[in-house]
Amino acid sequence: MSLQEYKAKRDFKQTAEPPARRGRTTKNGTWSFVVQKHAASHLHYDFRLEMDGVLKSWAVPKGFPYLKGDRRLAMQVEDHPVDYGGFEGTIPAGNYGAGTVMLWDFGSYDVVGGDPSSALAAGKVPLELQGKKMKGRWTLVRMKPKDGEPKVAWLMIKSETDTKPISARADDKSAKSGRTMKQIAGANGKIWKSSRKSSSGSTLKEKIRAILAKAEK
Ligand code: MN
Repeated sequence: MSLQEYKAKRDFKQTAEPPARRGRTTKNGTWSFVVQKHAASHLHYDFRLEMDGVLKSWAVPKGFPYLKGDRRLAMQVEDHPVDYGGFEGTIPAGNYGAGTVMLWDFGSYDVVGGDPSSALAAGKVPLELQGKKMKGRWTLVRMKPKDGEPKVAWLMIKSETDTKPISARADDKSAKSGRTMKQIAGANGKIWKSSRKSSSGSTLKEKIRAILAKAEK
């Protein structure tokens, strides 16, 4: 379990995402899970399970299945630090994963009839989720890796029973702050502008200069 890839992809002078620090994981009982809705170049949901001091992570492009037996693609991505589970905000333009991140859901999970690490290694993780939005059973199943394909594809399958689909309203509401994607983007946009290398003042000056230069022609 390493945060090397997480670290390599990010410039922590530019992004407010948490540093690559391993966390402590509960030894037994219940573990936490978190879902972040991420409006990057493509909108997706990042599904993360606390395991062995990190958050094992999957990007789910089409959202979660809610009818028993339905399956959705879940691409396994790099491990994230446990601290990432508290992150909501925007990743500034030009950075890895640039866009708005909403803390869409969080809660605890259990692996049905097993423990997280061995279930993950076996490629089948039957989950019991106790989140604010996601409640009930889903199963992650690893697909056979394709030759030369670096990313590992999994399927997230709704198991045991159907569940109610998430309403459009709940889908656009942070489980942490209650904010919409638009509100998160707005609030953080201000912070980012002031902390980026060019202050808004000089940018404005440059803009005015450019407009004047054009007008003179
Ligand atoms: Mn993401």
